[in-house]
Amino acid sequence: MTPIRIAIVGVGKIARDQHVPTIARDAGFELVATASRHGSVEGVPGFPDIETLLDSVGKLDAVALCMPPGPRHAAALKALSAGKHVLLEKPPGATLSELDDLVAAATASKVSLFATWHSRHAAGVAAAKDWLAHRSIRSMRVDWKEDVRRWHPGQAWIWEPGGFGVFDPGINALSIVTEILPMPIYLTSATLLFPKNRAQPIAADLTFADAAGADRVTATFDWRQTGPQTWDIRVATDEGELLLQSGGAKLFIKGEAVVNEGDVEYAGVYRRFAGLIAAGKSDVDLRPLRHVADAFMAGRHDFTDAFED
Ligand code: NAP
Repeated sequence: MTPIRIAIVGVGKIARDQHVPTIARDAGFELVATASRHGSVEGVPGFPDIETLLDSVGKLDAVALCMPPGPRHAAALKALSAGKHVLLEKPPGATLSELDDLVAAATASKVSLFATWHSRHAAGVAAAKDWLAHRSIRSMRVDWKEDVRRWHPGQAWIWEPGGFGVFDPGINALSIVTEILPMPIYLTSATLLFPKNRAQPIAADLTFADAAGADRVTATFDWRQTGPQTWDIRVATDEGELLLQSGGAKLFIKGEAVVNEGDVEYAGVYRRFAGLIAAGKSDVDLRPLRHVADAFMAGRHDFTDAFED
């Protein structure tokens, strides 16, 4: 099988931590170039921007866009128009509407567009979805609490408009919630807490209802947690409790450990991307982004102490 010749655009933390090593381990892909203003990958030709990359690399099948969401739409449109398959890091864009544009461009160019949600590929998520499919959900509680200084050191963009603030990790929780819940939910209330010197929130409390109008899902996202980090989803059902821990890597059902695996998320992301390309399909599920947009639109905005890195 000829590997898919891929380029990474935006060589920063997630490109180095996950995309480069995952592509290196996956025989279905070959990293042939990067485009980044400052970053590079040893032994791989690097270009300063996506225009130069697209002009310079003849045999290029796909791009993985690993920059922040703000500049992603422009890059995606260029790549799709040039006939390349496109993998979007999460969140897929800075607005909902810009994604419509990209779906249309992918269809016109007959290429695959993949809006990735890496947390959905965590080891316990598929089994959690299967188990919940046959249960009656009483309530769901999400706690996504981490130390922003540890996970986003010096990332100025994340505090700027379009950077998402605490919703940058929080949207990962929402990607799992929307994947495993057997019914749709909608936001009924939200409080977003903004440091007085920042444009994006440092914490948020959210409540969602299901179609019957019952407030079944509550979530707290908080970037001020030091010490042990918490990425938990707890679901009470008619047949006992399901608990996803460590961002979905660990699954407990009625207190019994069912899944406890290491980090398999990006292997799953690239497996799915290869499958979409082979099948000539796209996958753009915007539900997590829609919930975040609703929280910004309908939520109360409160203010707290200034935050310094
Ligand atoms: P990052 O460390 O800041 O890297 C992003 C890279 O994108 C930068 O190094 C920069 O490289 C390039 N870039 C292009 N335009 C930019 C702009 N206008 N502002 C800032 N950088 C720009 O960020 P990251 O943590 O890798 O996150 C990137 C995306 O991956 C985000 O959407 C994030 O949600 C997602 N993600 C991150 C993690 C994580 O653990 N950090 C996990 C999963 C997903 P050049 O300066 O060389 O162009």
